[in-house]
Amino acid sequence: MADNLTKYREKRDLKKTAVPSGGASVKSSNGRRFAIQKHDSTRLHYDLRLELDGVFKSCAATKGPSLDPQDKRLAVEVEDQPLDYGDFEGTIPKELYGGGTVLLWDRGYWEPELNKSPEQALAKATSSSLLEGTGCTVFVLVRMRGNEDEKRTNCS
Ligand code: MN
Repeated sequence: MADNLTKYREKRDLKKTAVPSGGASVKSSNGRRFAIQKHDSTRLHYDLRLELDGVFKSCAATKGPSLDPQDKRLAVEVEDQPLDYGDFEGTIPKELYGGGTVLLWDRGYWEPELNKSPEQALAKATSSSLLEGTGCTVFVLVRMRGNEDEKRTNCS
């Protein structure tokens, strides 16, 4: 697999935790998956994961999704995750990276905004819309201008 998951593996001791190694092949689906995981780690946060090119592009927000479209959430990009991580729920031992409990908050399929490719929607990050989720149904990602190194992304 052309590996976008090197960082993911480097950060984890896969012998000591039940999180997926990223080695398993995941059935292809008709739509691009998304998952939102509530992660009660050192600091409680919500991980938003969007399938692109065989992995989940991921960002983390310290506040949970909201039903109010006016609400904004600052989210920070994190390393790509394997697709089977989108089904993961469980407790990672406290002393390990990401130690704490992971709960699946929502999942479904996402689509880029009209007239945008998924790559444009994420890499250049204009905006994207979620479809067919069970809880959170719509969000907009806005990549903040400024320091390229910060690579921060706003989710709302
Ligand atoms: Mn997390």
